[in-house]
Amino acid sequence: MSAAVPSNEHFDVLIVGAGISGIGAAHHLQQQCPGKRFVILEAQAGHGGTWRTHRYPGIRSDSDLFTFGYRFKPWMGKPIATAAEIQSYLAEVIDENRLAPLIRYRHTITSADWSSEEKCWQLQVRIEGEGDVEAQTRRFTANFLWMCQGYYRHGQGYTPHWPGMEQFKGRIVHPQTWPDDLDLSGKQVVVIGSGATAATLIPAIASECKSVTMLQRSPTYFITGRNANELADMLRQLDIPPEWTHEIVRRKVLFDQANFTRRCVAEPEVVKKELLAGVGAALGPGHAKVVQEHLTPRYRPWQQRIAFVPDADLFKSIREGQASIVTDEIEAFVEDGIRLKSGQVLPADLIVTATGFNLNVMGDINFHIDGRPLDWSDTVTWRGTMFSGVPNLAWVFGYFRASWTLRADLIGDFVCRLLQHRDALGAAVVTPTLRPQDQAMALMPWVDPQNFNPGYLARGLHLLPKQGDRMPWLHGQDYWAEKDELPKADLDDGAFAYS
Ligand SMILES: Cc1cc2nc3c(=O)[nH]c(=O)nc-3n(C[C@H](O)[C@H](O)[C@H](O)COP(=O)(O)OP(=O)(O)OC[C@H]3O[C@@H](n4cnc5c(N)ncnc54)[C@H](O)[C@@H]3O)c2cc1C
Repeated sequence: MSAAVPSNEHFDVLIVGAGISGIGAAHHLQQQCPGKRFVILEAQAGHGGTWRTHRYPGIRSDSDLFTFGYRFKPWMGKPIATAAEIQSYLAEVIDENRLAPLIRYRHTITSADWSSEEKCWQLQVRIEGEGDVEAQTRRFTANFLWMCQGYYRHGQGYTPHWPGMEQFKGRIVHPQTWPDDLDLSGKQVVVIGSGATAATLIPAIASECKSVTMLQRSPTYFITGRNANELADMLRQLDIPPEWTHEIVRRKVLFDQANFTRRCVAEPEVVKKELLAGVGAALGPGHAKVVQEHLTPRYRPWQQRIAFVPDADLFKSIREGQASIVTDEIEAFVEDGIRLKSGQVLPADLIVTATGFNLNVMGDINFHIDGRPLDWSDTVTWRGTMFSGVPNLAWVFGYFRASWTLRADLIGDFVCRLLQHRDALGAAVVTPTLRPQDQAMALMPWVDPQNFNPGYLARGLHLLPKQGDRMPWLHGQDYWAEKDELPKADLDDGAFAYS
């Protein structure tokens, strides 16, 4: 039961979501725009977003936490972190910045309507009931919306439909909704998928179940190495202050990544050979056929995020015979497993569908502008952050090829600079607006599918905003360019209308 409560609270800035992006946004706002009154509304019962939702065994980052951590809060642990470690880090940020009273949990924003007359967003928010307290719907208003809601639906992962699914006698589980009561002992498990999730989950469960098979349609690139950073370890031994160590190691990681990305473009075949050699070495002698058949992708390195396998744990499970890989396509689920197009039947008691996400567009919030429905695919993005014709709203969409948080920090600085600039002009509204010279430019998808093409984006690209063919209407996804360009972006070049 939901009771409508008419009361209305107003904020200068309303942050949607208390994941990495939302907590970061709150920090930047507090530091750089101390006069702004703000709140974070979060649908879940606690902070962390992705790192709270995902609870499957082995859940961990695939980026190093020197760059996946914030620029302003040193990372003190190993480079690759578990979800629990990321959650504690975020809890410390909340604590150190006294953000707890500014976060409202169990608050789901369902609709947002911009009023040009009132110069604010009017939000409908569903507040989940708790104990004896009934669920409610409340209105909030905010001058500026800082969208930190991520890019996928938290409640349910993406599971394709395969013929015969209903005949399968075992359990089908998506890693995004991993049940607490799942007993793996003695089970034959098939994990469908080949990305970071499958690579993380398989070694974490391999010793517990009878067998685990990674069933993939096509192979993925992996990089493997120790879960350690020698430079960080050395600086820590020398008792260098954590802030310095964090900054120096971030710069070194970013330098190495820039070099790697450049090489992927300049000499993809050489990089491919190196990656495959690394995987071959981790598997050890006698596994050349596994590398050739199951670990040699068809695409260029870096067209999809490359999964990092710390301490070669996936390869160790394969080497020791606890895990195996099958590359084939599913024809149908059968009573006791999966029949493949090759005719082979993979026996299974449990099938894990590590098949990705359901993209959600702007938190599944029903957006209107002055009562007219807002279709995001009709908008053009200003540098992948704001949108033509949409007043007072910014979205934190991070990088694919570098850590998400690098962009969350950059956008944090940008939004604060824009708010200060707008206020200094005596305006209350800033709206990205196509200038006369931009009106006829060619429009392209939110991300170039040739450049980056994971399934969840491919499935939902038509719903997302467009990018143009020139600055400032490009969504470049290039940290190394953006780190210099965004702080200097001209706020008075006519692409922003102030009123
Ligand atoms: C398993 C996994 C591992 C990953 N590993 C990495 C990695 O190593 N490195 C990397 O760079 N990226 C990684 N990513 C991408 C990752 O999602 C981002 O890096 C980052 O965590 C996203 O943070 P966010 O705060 O923007 O979004 P999210 O973590 O998605 O958080 C968004 C929050 O907004 C809330 N929300 C959404 N809609 C509403 C609404 N309407 N009303 C109220 N609240 C709402 C959600 O409940 C959620 O808590 C990974 C993703 C997954 C799924």
